[in-house]
Amino acid sequence: MPSTFSYQWDTPKYKGKTSFNTGIFIDGKFLDGSSGTTIDVINPTNGKVITSISEAVEKDVDLAVAAAQKAFDTVWGLKTPGAKRAELLWSLAQAMERHKEELAAIEALDNGKTYDWALGTDVSFSIDVIKYFAGWADKVTGQTIETDERKLAYTRHEPIGVVGQIIPWNFPLLMWSWKIGPALATGNTIVLKPSEFTPLTAIRMCEILKEAGIPDGVVNLVTGYGHTVGAAISSHMKIEKVAFTGSTLVGRKIMEAASKSNLKTVTLELGGKSPNIIFDDADLDQAVNWAAHGIFWNHGQACCAGSRIFVQEAIYDEFLKRFTQKAREIRVGDPFDNDTDQGPQVSQIQYDRIMGYIESGKQQGATVAIGGDRKGSEGYFINPTIFTDATPDMKIVQEEIFGPVGVVIKFKTQEEVVKQANDTSYGLAAAVFSQNINRAIETAHQLQAGTAWINCINQLHAQVPFGGYKQSGIGRELGEYALSNYTNVKAVHINLQHRI
Ligand code: NAD
Repeated sequence: MPSTFSYQWDTPKYKGKTSFNTGIFIDGKFLDGSSGTTIDVINPTNGKVITSISEAVEKDVDLAVAAAQKAFDTVWGLKTPGAKRAELLWSLAQAMERHKEELAAIEALDNGKTYDWALGTDVSFSIDVIKYFAGWADKVTGQTIETDERKLAYTRHEPIGVVGQIIPWNFPLLMWSWKIGPALATGNTIVLKPSEFTPLTAIRMCEILKEAGIPDGVVNLVTGYGHTVGAAISSHMKIEKVAFTGSTLVGRKIMEAASKSNLKTVTLELGGKSPNIIFDDADLDQAVNWAAHGIFWNHGQACCAGSRIFVQEAIYDEFLKRFTQKAREIRVGDPFDNDTDQGPQVSQIQYDRIMGYIESGKQQGATVAIGGDRKGSEGYFINPTIFTDATPDMKIVQEEIFGPVGVVIKFKTQEEVVKQANDTSYGLAAAVFSQNINRAIETAHQLQAGTAWINCINQLHAQVPFGGYKQSGIGRELGEYALSNYTNVKAVHINLQHRI
């Protein structure tokens, strides 16, 4: 039997407790993985083990797929009308509301983000997403199509069946909701793998799914490693679709596995190296505040982080002065303390990776304007870091660092900055700051990115699609666009005359 994880918080920000099973979740039951092994979950604030969870292996993916298929055939899919699915999704959102603070505390403990952000952004946005897709569940319709007088043709948007979903560690619950919402609304059943670094909210959500009345087998959770469980999902012959959020490197592996197995459809939400362009007519105070939010939000662990900050020459020095001051004011510390703005990075691996990039920037000749070092002696804390004097070929300019590290680059003209901004293999997001709305819109249209923000950055809404150009992904999540990821279109032809 899987063990139970219990934890009590007595912090300035949150006082409360949690207690839940740590097994894999198949057909409504918590189980040990077939191998009987476990995975340690580490607290990034102090590097200590929080708990151990059951490790799923390939055989468990088979069991989860079988359970999901049974649920699809008997209690979900075409067996449950859209209106009923809407009701159940709404009930799920309400159940999440009831456990809001507890979910935020688990997320902060497991990921290291501050409790306030976890509550105000991750959990609240996740609830919004589930409510938004609840609204779609009974509005997924096809078309009637005119051909000639002898025929009636129409389309149906049918659920695909069992879908696989693989998510990362930077927004564990939020990515869960982006995946679960549209898949359930359209009638699919799910085998989901959370990141091995941050599995706790996804496990807790299994109990909350039950509380909300989602039938057993509709959502199955396999907690394990990417190269075993993730690979088994992406190559599974009975999973017809896989949705993935994570690195471009792993995204390639998923596509390869899909193409070598059953040609399942693949949607990918991958990495980014987003430009944030600040023209000399921008509201400087606002631009500084947003630029800091752009790169330091979630400790820089955001796929859409505005990590390349292009500043027009006339305001460059003043911007840098204020931006550096802003970074200096960010308080790095325990996610549950009252006066913390930024917690630790998620893991030792990420900490080492980011410090490696900082070192490479220094070695390649860029200047550290602020930061570039760790904070404290335990946990994975890195001070907000700003580089200047970087050249386009440097790793810190080209590669996704996924940490609190921004590069400020001076530019002269719109034409020049658009060219530089687009000089990347990524195309997830971009931001433009200018009070000249024509220039802002024109620039936004010239940028090769799935999202372009004007006079803001990192703004996401359940209603608005999100996804990448170029190597930042395939497909769109959120908004109405997300529904098409999870439906097959069937064309039905009806002959109105009985002759051939
Ligand atoms: P990652 O690619 O290392 O892992 C993501 C998930 O894939 C994890 O669950 C992991 O276990 C699994 N995985 C690893 N190897 C696998 C394999 N061979 N087959 C199948 N699954 C495998 O990414 P990460 O480090 O968890 O997250 C950071 C990355 O995610 C960044 O590149 C970031 O930009 C990206 N991301 C993108 C978005 C977006 O919406 N575009 C959102 C969040 C994060």
